[in-house]
Amino acid sequence: MVKLEKKPIRGILPENFKQYQLGLCLPFYKSRSGERVHRVRSGQALFTDGVYTHTSLSLWCGATGSIGNEGSRGYLSAEAPDNAVFCATCEGRAIGAGMDGTRYINGRFCLFSPRI
Ligand SMILES: [Zn+2]
Repeated sequence: MVKLEKKPIRGILPENFKQYQLGLCLPFYKSRSGERVHRVRSGQALFTDGVYTHTSLSLWCGATGSIGNEGSRGYLSAEAPDNAVFCATCEGRAIGAGMDGTRYINGRFCLFSPRI
């Protein structure tokens, strides 16, 4: 599990719609139709009329993903799948921001300063 960033909730939500920030999450996300493994940056569990609908994920590269809904085409994992092709933007930003506790890529110190 990795600790996620808090993403500000923007806009006015319908009264029957609630979303809750995820504090922790498995680190890797892969869309079933995509070829790359991404890193999760933040996430929100979404409810309509008190019923869980799905979890929306924001990825370090700026893409989004979802899990838990019937039409979901993605999944989370603790380890990257064998023969994974990593999203280079996610890897660079997540490691550079210290998500793995180290900021080294190929023995070189890397730093990414997120702008929110
Ligand atoms: Zn990515």
